[in-house]
This record gives sequence, C-alpha cells and structure tokens, in this order.
Amino acid sequence: MKIKILLTLLIITCFSGLVQAQNISLQCGATVDVLGKKLSGPQTIHVVDGRIAATPTGSTEVVDLSDHTCLPGLIDMHVHLTSESNPKAYLERFTLNTADYAFRAARYAKATLDAGFTTVRNLGDDGTITKSLRDAVRQGIVEGPRIFSAGKSLATTGGHADPSNGYRADLMGDPTPKEGVVNGAEDAAKAVRQRYKEGADLIKITATGGVLSTAKNGQNPQFTEAELAAIVRTANDYGFKVAAHAHGAEGMKRAIRAGVSSIEHGTLMDDEARKLMKKHGTYLVPTILAGEFVMNKAKIDGYFPEIVRPKAASIGPQLKSNFKRAVEAGVKIAFGTDSGVSAHGDNAQEFALMVAAGMSPMEAIRSATVHAADLLGASDDLGSLTVGKYGDIIAVQGNPLENISLLEKVSFVMQGGRIVEISK
Ligand SMILES: [Zn+2]
Repeated sequence: MKIKILLTLLIITCFSGLVQAQNISLQCGATVDVLGKKLSGPQTIHVVDGRIAATPTGSTEVVDLSDHTCLPGLIDMHVHLTSESNPKAYLERFTLNTADYAFRAARYAKATLDAGFTTVRNLGDDGTITKSLRDAVRQGIVEGPRIFSAGKSLATTGGHADPSNGYRADLMGDPTPKEGVVNGAEDAAKAVRQRYKEGADLIKITATGGVLSTAKNGQNPQFTEAELAAIVRTANDYGFKVAAHAHGAEGMKRAIRAGVSSIEHGTLMDDEARKLMKKHGTYLVPTILAGEFVMNKAKIDGYFPEIVRPKAASIGPQLKSNFKRAVEAGVKIAFGTDSGVSAHGDNAQEFALMVAAGMSPMEAIRSATVHAADLLGASDDLGSLTVGKYGDIIAVQGNPLENISLLEKVSFVMQGGRIVEISK
C-alpha cells in the first residue's frame, strides 16, 4: 500500500485562533462514478469539515491515491453486529450478558468499517446494543460504520424473531410487544411506538419463518394482513421505513402489499411477488452470502441444531437463483449480506456472488451505494462522491469494474472526512 500524505499547505487562521478545519484532498488515480455509471479518470476529491467540497479550504492534507480507484463508502443494508454464527451460539443466549455482546459488537463494527463499509443497517438485536453502538460511533468513542438500527425485530408468537423459540417450556414465557412479539393490530402498533421511544431508526419484521431460529418452518407467513397494515401505518406516522425478512412467497406478498420498503432474502419469490415489488418500488436485499454460508455449514454434524439443518440446506442455495430471477425481472436491488451469519468484515464477498449470478459489476457497486442510500432515505448524505455528501470514501488498487473481488481488499477508508487506520 503506497498511500502518502504529501504536504500541509497552509495554516488556517480563524478569528477564534483555535478552530482548525480538517481538510483533506484525495488524489485518486480513477473513480467509480456511480451516478454516471462509468469509470472516471484521475480526480482530486476535496473533503472539508467531513463533507465532499468543490474546492479545498485552508490547511489541507493531500493523500496520494494515484495508483488507486476511489469509490463511495460501501453500504450494507443487512447486518447483525452483535453476533457471529458458531455452533455455540444457541447456548450463548443463556451464558452471555448484554455487555458481552456489546464488546463483541464493537469489534465486529471495526472489522466492518475496515472492510470499506462506512454505513450499515442493523436489522435486529436485543434492542439496545446497536443503538448504543450507533451513538458511540457518532461520538467518536469507538470506530465503526454509521449504523441505522432497527432495535429488536418484530415477530408473532413462535415466529422467526420470537426470542424464546427453542427454550424449554417453563423458560419460554410469553414475550410482549416491548420484546418484539406482537399478536393483533394493537400490539403491532404498540411495538412500533416502543421502538420509536427507544430510539430506533427503522422497523424490522420477520414476515415469514426463517432459517436459524429453532422452529420448524422456514417459510410460512407469520403476520396477518391486519397486523402488517398496522405496522406500516404506525411506522409511517413516525417516519420509519419497514424492512421485512421473508423467505416464503405468501408472507412476502402480504408484506409488499402492506407497503414495506424492502424484502430481505426473498428466497422463494414467485412471478406475482416480483411484479408486486416492481409495482410498489420495493427493494430486494439479496443476502446471497448468508445462503452460501448456511448451506456449507449444514453439511457439518453438530454445527446447527437438527431442527435448523434441513432449512439451512434447502433455503441457502436458492438465494442465488432467486437473485438472478429478480435482477432479470428488473426488481430494485440494495446490497445486503446478513453478516453475523457469515463473518463480519467478509461483507464484500457478496459482490462476487452477485456478479456470478448475472449482475454487472457497476450495478453491484450501485446496489451498495446509490441504491442503498435511497433505501435508507439518506441520498442527500450518502451513496456517491458528490459535493455536499459525507466524506465516506474508499479506495482499492486496480479496477473493481474489471475484477469485482478487488473490493474484498480495500486499502483506504475514509469516514466522515476522517482517515480510518485499518487494523491488520
Ligand atoms: Zn438477518
């Protein structure tokens, strides 16, 4: 890696005598223009006070990235920063404290940022950790991506995100809307309001069964239309978007019709669901990487509980073929990995899987930049190297449009105008 800070030009003199702007100019050998959909030639990108600027101001550090290609910071729309799957994960729910998960989350957040992902959407945790982590990152206490946190996911009793699934009967209890379990429209509205109260950024629901929960069905619909309508209506009242985990077609279609913003996984999407997604402008967040991961781990005796194993083996491989059909049908795609199933920091492996399944490298990069920013509702701040947006910029050696796997070896990361020291 040959990144050199060349010179300091001028010392800014302010009337206060104390304020010193953090100004950095990046001399990029090339840039991926995600709006113009092309590779652009050498370009100097100025970052002033954390945002991309038309011209440098005052004292400026110049960083030589002339043998690099610069891109907007990458955005992963589906991560779980508090955990990483392992054979002990099911037992750890009984042995780890919230603080244990929080320390792990801080480490996973740093690995994610080092991999070039300057923003993530955290779609479900115990409800407090990633909101605290989000705030700690904002305050500069720990290093990590910008986090949009859904808090605790919403499920119905026994549904994919019912936190007591798989417990013995006397430990199961009857979780409440506060704990993310709702039954009926009133509960559903209350759970959304609870997330507002707790400071979530969006709502996540588990519209169908899922792979890794200790429950039999990985694809059945798990919300009624009335419950979904109440969730989306209440979410709209509070300015929340709704992300819906869905594998099976029926639960997926109910969620799309109710007006959710994204379908996560979308494994068994049928023609009708694809048409509905196009009609409603619903994004698919494909998570192919998670599918590959669970498919491989299902082959190992004892890695998953026996009730999970057949779901992992059957749903995993279908994520890639579903993605291919969705791309061909023109469904909007926003990049997402479900990292926390696979290892944090491996997020960029999803790109090669997307390209292998038929998406162009440019569109794969756009899914993790412009499209992801659109789904976040944050296009004014994120998603392209445009004047006025955050100085979230990464660089790789070589041309990622020719070799998408280069995105797995990011050698420069800037977030909010600050250069990240990448841990080895
Ligand atoms: Zn997930």
